[in-house]
Parts: sequence; structure tokens; C-alpha cells
Amino acid sequence: MAAAPLGAPRVLLRRLREVMAQPESAQTRLDRIVVLIAANMVAEVCSIYVGRRDGSLELFATEGLNPSAVHSTHLRPGEGLVGLIAEQAEPLNLTEAQDHPAFAYRPETGEEIYHSFLGVPILKSGHTLGVLTVQNQTQRHYSEEEIEALQTTAMVLAELISARDIQTGNDRAAVPSREGPQRHTGVVLSDGITLGHVVLHQPRIAVSNLIAEDVFGEHERLDKAVDELRQTIDDMLARGDIERVGEHRDVLEAYRMFAHDQGWVRRLKEAVDTGLTAEAAVERVQNDTRARMLRQTDPFWRERLNDLDDLANRLLRHLAGRAATAADDLIPEDSVLLARTMGAAELLDYDPNRLRALVLEEGGYTSHVAIVARALGIAAVGQAENILEWAETGDDIVVDAEAGEVHLRPSQEVISAYADKVRFRATRQAQYAKLRDKKSRTKDGLKIELHINAGLLVDLPHLAESGADGIGLFRTELQFMISSTFPRIEQQIKTYRAILKMAAGKPVVFRSLDIGGDKLLPYLRHSHEENPAIGWRAIRMALDRPGLLRMQVRALLRAAPGKDLRLMLPMISEVAEYKAARTLIEREKTHLIRHGHKVPKNILVGAMIEVPSLLWQLDELMPVVDFVSVGSNDLLQFLFAADRANLRVAERFDALSPAALRPLRLIAEKADAYGVPLTLCGEMAGRPLEAMALIGLGFRSISMAPAFIGPIKAMVRSLDAGTLRQCLDAVLEKGEPDARRVLQDFARKSGVEI
Ligand code: PEP
Ligand code: MG
Repeated sequence: MAAAPLGAPRVLLRRLREVMAQPESAQTRLDRIVVLIAANMVAEVCSIYVGRRDGSLELFATEGLNPSAVHSTHLRPGEGLVGLIAEQAEPLNLTEAQDHPAFAYRPETGEEIYHSFLGVPILKSGHTLGVLTVQNQTQRHYSEEEIEALQTTAMVLAELISARDIQTGNDRAAVPSREGPQRHTGVVLSDGITLGHVVLHQPRIAVSNLIAEDVFGEHERLDKAVDELRQTIDDMLARGDIERVGEHRDVLEAYRMFAHDQGWVRRLKEAVDTGLTAEAAVERVQNDTRARMLRQTDPFWRERLNDLDDLANRLLRHLAGRAATAADDLIPEDSVLLARTMGAAELLDYDPNRLRALVLEEGGYTSHVAIVARALGIAAVGQAENILEWAETGDDIVVDAEAGEVHLRPSQEVISAYADKVRFRATRQAQYAKLRDKKSRTKDGLKIELHINAGLLVDLPHLAESGADGIGLFRTELQFMISSTFPRIEQQIKTYRAILKMAAGKPVVFRSLDIGGDKLLPYLRHSHEENPAIGWRAIRMALDRPGLLRMQVRALLRAAPGKDLRLMLPMISEVAEYKAARTLIEREKTHLIRHGHKVPKNILVGAMIEVPSLLWQLDELMPVVDFVSVGSNDLLQFLFAADRANLRVAERFDALSPAALRPLRLIAEKADAYGVPLTLCGEMAGRPLEAMALIGLGFRSISMAPAFIGPIKAMVRSLDAGTLRQCLDAVLEKGEPDARRVLQDFARKSGVEI
């Protein structure tokens, strides 16, 4: 059988346009379309399967198969070749279909006489709406052009299938209706509760015109839009204020790289060649990319998908003559931003005073944008699947980023319930704000230092706002994580200098890179590890690859000439590791002096206590360190052998049980005996009851997320540390199994605000 002649796809598309223009029902159109496709592709069979809500596929129209099978043949999810295509969202081209292991014989269709088979997914936004197939009796191999043509046709079908008029039954693959209340669930990325109005980050560009009138003209439009896109990215990179936030530049550099990618532009042009408009070509290429990348589990590729999605959307807006995202519009003061995905830099494009919350369809807790949302102090929920399909700009919305719930167009009852909740939180916040300049002292006069944990430049304003004593933990790896390339030394120096300047004399404890484990850098190759949390991470990596640590130490030393520099080493398991790192730091200092650089007045090097083995080396550790900081997140996960990121086990063990409190007391006693400054910078420092217990154990300094400074200071100021100490001693003496309850009773009876 001869292959379809070149140019046939365009003819087919023209015919399709004629069919679409007829005032007919969707079913009639589909019936006519299968005939057209079969004829155009010289195939005996052409069939359209439409996905249903439950994931099964229904034969919806056919030319060549038994007509009585239409609407009665259903394939379960994953069943047969058609199910496989839907599942994998990739074309399948077979000379002998019946030899394929996934082939499922359906006698009612009469397809046993056909041998060759070509099927493509019908995709919209990377999601499979159905499957389009052609079949021939001969053992034919379909050409690349034919696959391309069928995919292009499938794209036109996607529009038809997702339109309302195909809904003859109730369970056709979901077609969004943007009316009525809806509740979506997701994961909390940044704590908070808010009511507001939806702003779609990417104002919707509906690609309504799919089929080109003039292919040459579409090529010109595409070329022009690609040029404009590249130009805007270059302009943004050249914009001076990008320097303000280092991460901007790196994300944009990634966009620039993709915008210049020859493969991407070639695929767009090929799609235009098949007869699509430039817009439809962008959608078509992005659809395929999304479908492919959504099936990748590697977080690196998922992140790259975000970049590519963003780029495709930008290009669509250039084609529509609307280059901006909603960041360029005047957004309402109670904006809740909705996006499929978003780069960290894009979130920073918005006026933070007008942003109340962020809701993403994707995005995990460690995604860059989540880190920035937390830094900006706005509520954020991620993994709110498909929410964009149901939302419209201006819709009322409630974001509950305590429970991980989002209510679209909520009912009046839901609104008033949440309004109460928001008011309650606001009153508490106002009370805490009043405490800002008040001393952090217990009722019996003990000074408790309260520090904040930070990791990005945007965190720095919280230092003054919260009235904290300093930054007890600066997670330097976050800057590295949101960067798409390894930050150069000059850039590192600039960032560290800016941090010290913004801290305005308050102490900052920089932690050397804690990478590995779940904190991966997109540009560093990480080999797979069975147990990454106890694998090659943090100081282990730093000592094995001293170049990394050396560069960071050099940047830190140069950023703090004549000042105090505090540097803390993560995941120390043996005193020897601390000593080796310290030697490296000393060497760097000598090196810099020799080269005429000014170095810090004092370099204080601390060790994090987060690996239990250190508990039995405290007498060797304390004499050699300048300070210690307990990383209780890791220390407790290792003590209880319970993965901190695995919710099934993380909550199983109580940080207030004697097994956790005793080692913490031991650390406090040893630090006190050796006169070594001690702090604790894990999450427990931000929980009032836990923080109270820490004070009872002898901690006089703790470090936490900025939002908790207020509640913790309120607790400190209402506490009598002397009586608490007695209570705690008794608890530990007895090995009280329910220490939490005893401490809660203590707090309640003695009026401690927890
Ligand atoms: C800790 O382990 O408690 C800690 C503060 O470090 P991180 O959470 O960054 O591992
Ligand atoms: Mg840790």
C-alpha cells in the first residue's frame, strides 16, 4: 500500500475545517471525520475512542469496524492497544497488531482481519481525552509523516471532544464547568488561611483557530513570535532589578536556553508544516512534551517541564499579542494566584502586598516556588489537581493552607466559617506583633534568645519584622537549589554580603551546604541511593569533594571582612569530620590573607548535633567547637529510625517522650558544663509546648520559622522556668510515658500560653 502523499495532512485539515464549520451534532461530525481520515490515510479502518471518567475508553465512531460496536465496545483502563496508548500517551505503530502482547481481541468489532495498526492519543494539556486509530488489512508500516498527520488530527479532535456538545451521557471524560461550589484538596506548601479572588497566572489564551489558511503566513507569525520571546527573555535578564534577587537570573537563564533550543523550534515548525496554525502548533508540541514528561518520576525532569510549560505559554501570549502574565496587570488586593506550575522568579514578579495565596496544580513542598511562597509569608497549596480547569479569573476562593483545602466559589456558609477563622488568626497575629519589641524573658527572669531560620534573601525582612535576635540557621543550600546552574563564587559572595548587610549587625549562622538526601541540585549528578537520608550528603559530600566546601567557605570569608562570621557544619557524625572541616576553613583563611584579602575578625565554627553517634562523643566534641546547634528534625528521625518525610511514620513517635527529651537534656548539660553556646534549630523550636520543654531542659536559645516567633515569645513570657524544671525532672526521673499530657497539664495549670 502506498504511503499517503505529502501535503495530504493539509488537505485533511482543510476538510476537517469544513466538517467543523457545519451546524451538525458532535456525533455526526465524528462520524464524518472517521470517514475522512480513513480515506485520506488510505486506511480501511479509522476509529475514535473517547475516555470516560472512570478511565475506560468507549468506541465512539468508526469507519470500517462493525457499526454496532459503536458505544457498546468499552475498554477498561490499560486494556488492549487502545488502553495502552491512552495510558502511555504515546503513539503506537504496529505492522502486526495481533502479535503485540497488549492486543485484546474484541469479537464484536470484527477487527481480526486487520493487521497493521496506528494509534495516537487525543491529548489536551498533556491529559488523554481519547485515542484515534487507523488499521489496514495488509502488513503496512505507517510513515513518520503519517504519524505526525494523525497526531495533528487528534489535536483537532481534542477540541471537539472537550466541547460540551459531545456530552450525550453523563460520564464522558470530564469537561470542566466553571460554575457552582467546588472543593479541591492538595498539600500544604506554606501555612495560612485566606479568602480572596482568583487570578490566573497565565491568562487563558484559548487556541480556537487550529487549522491554518496559509501555512507560509503561519511560519512567519511563528518566527516573529519566537524572536519576540527570545528578546523579552534577554530584556528581562538585562533588567537591573533582577540583581535584587539572585534566583531570578538563573531561572531566566534556563528559559533562554530552552527558547534557543533548536529541537523545540524544529518541532514547532514541523507542526505548522502539517497545516496547523502557529498557536495550535505550540499547543501540539507542548501537549506531547507534557504527556511524555508527566510520566517521568525524576524531579529534575518535572522541574524542566515547568520551564517548558512556562515558555510555551509565553509564546502563545506573544502570538496573541498579549505578552504578559497576570503579573503585569493590576491585580486585586486579595489575589489568589492559580497556576499549573510556576517558577520561583515568576512569583517574585507579583506585588507581594496584593497576593494573599498561591494554589498550584503541581509543586511539592521542596519546589522552588514553595520555598519562595514561605519566604514571602503567603499561604500556598500545591498538587490541587486539575483546579485550573474549573477556575475562572475573579471567582471567589478560600485557601485553607492549614488543612490543604481549596474552595472554589464557596457557599455563603463556607465563606462565613472561614471569615471567622481568618479573623481569629488575624487577632492572634496582631497580638504577636505587639510583642515584637518586648523582651523574650520568662516570668522568673531567664533570657531566652529567639532566632529565625532562613534560606533566601526574601526571608531577611522577617528578621526585623519578627523582632528576632538573629538568624539561627541560614540554610545556604536553598540558594543553590533554586539556581539552575552552580552559583559562581562572585555571586555567592554577593549573596552572603547582602544577607549580612540586611541582618544589620544581628548574628547570622550560615550552615554549609546540606545537599544530598532530599535536597538535590538540578545541575549536580546524584547517583541513586537506597537510603539517601543516611547516604552521601552534607559534610560527607563536602569532605569527599572539598572543592565545593572550599569555594563556599572562601565566599563566606570574603563576604564578612572585619566582622564575626558564624559557620555551622551539618550532619557531623564524628569529631574528626568537624576537625577536618575546620582545618579546611583555617587553610582558606590563610590563603585569603596571603592574597591580600581582608578576612573576618572572628570565625566561629559550630557543629550541628543531628546524628545520634555524637551523643556519645560530647566530651570530645564540646572542647573543640565554638558552638553547637541541635538539628532536631534529623536527630529525632535517626533516634527513632522514622523517616521525617514519611507521614505514616513521622508522627508515630513523640518529640516529648523521655527517649527524645533525655538526649536533649544531656546535650544541654554538656554544653553548659563546657561553656559552649547551644541552640536548637529544628521544627520543634517553633511549637510552643515543645519549645517550653526545651527551656525546661536547659536550652536558652532556639531558632524557628519566622511566623512562630510571636507565639513562642508569648509562651516564654508567661512561663516560670523554675517550676517547669521541677516538673520536667520528675517526668524524666519517672520515665513518664505520656510526658506530653503532663506538660500540657503543667502549662494549663500555670497559665502558660501554648
Ligand atoms: C534539622 O535537621 O533539624 C535541621 C535544622 O536541618 P534540616 O531541617 O535542614 O535538615
Ligand atoms: Mg538536618
